[in-house]
Amino acid sequence: MKCAKGEKFSHGNLIRYGTFEVSPAAGILNYGQGIFEGLKAYRTEEGSILLFRPEENALRMKAGADRLCMTSPSVEQFINAVKDTVLANKRWVPPAGRGTLYLRPLLMGTGAALGVGPSTEYTFLIYCSPVSNYHKGPLNFKVEEKLYRAISGLSGTGGIKSVTNYAPVYPATTEAKAEGFSDVLFLDAATGKHIEEGSACNMFVVKGNAICTPTTDGAILPGITRKSVIAIAIDLGYQVMERGVTVEEMLVADELFCTGTAVVVNNIASVTYKNTKIEYKTGAETVAQKLRKTLLGIQTGTIEDRKGWTVRVL
Ligand code: PMP
Repeated sequence: MKCAKGEKFSHGNLIRYGTFEVSPAAGILNYGQGIFEGLKAYRTEEGSILLFRPEENALRMKAGADRLCMTSPSVEQFINAVKDTVLANKRWVPPAGRGTLYLRPLLMGTGAALGVGPSTEYTFLIYCSPVSNYHKGPLNFKVEEKLYRAISGLSGTGGIKSVTNYAPVYPATTEAKAEGFSDVLFLDAATGKHIEEGSACNMFVVKGNAICTPTTDGAILPGITRKSVIAIAIDLGYQVMERGVTVEEMLVADELFCTGTAVVVNNIASVTYKNTKIEYKTGAETVAQKLRKTLLGIQTGTIEDRKGWTVRVL
């Protein structure tokens, strides 16, 4: 769908996946005026298809669009477009337990302008692909100590899913992967004393019955999985705190785990900080796995969705 500045998106249409034309002077190409989302369609054992909290993705996209001076589709348009995309691709939604259909909504400035300034035209599209597990095997993270490599710097775009947050992470993740790590754990760019997030996941530390996760005030993406896991953990009787989490606390935690649409909830087996490897509890008895089981159960329809989080497409 397209819309001009000052107008609203009208209905879009389904087209076969392929390339599309965009002006070389488009805001997305020159100035990074782009927001994306990520969500999954889950096949249940009975064969129906569920989305997980798509209105949260719509609202997060709207917050990002406001920050980057773009018009976003309405929540209803967003959810309907996601549903239409899933239905048109239903044969690509894998059977229960064998993967999911990942959907990528993308909103961008496609108006042509040479000078720095908001585009006068925006395009919203969704593409999708079947996916299996994001990470294979145990997760071993490296703490990135070069603070200038942090995910969003201090420009205030860390709290939105702006396209500009991701390429700056490439040097850190490429280096870490070449060294055999699964991903990078970023610290706060201002002091390097607090943990922030992975390249595409939020972080949690567990000590006894207490679970802590960094607040998402501007620098860290407010993950939808994070929000859901907090609610599930409270229901399961854990003490949950959202506050600054220091590196020291992480080093002495019982468990460290990450959350995200791609990773769901996953234990981190080790973290390497200042060349020292710290190991954490993993396995079925961990808090992370208990949370994962409940979350995945709700997402795939094997646990009753008492919170009204799932949206049935088929
Ligand atoms: N942080 C970053 C930087 C991410 O890209 C993601 C993935 N969207 C997350 C956290 C987790 O967010 P969510 O649970 O909504 O997928």
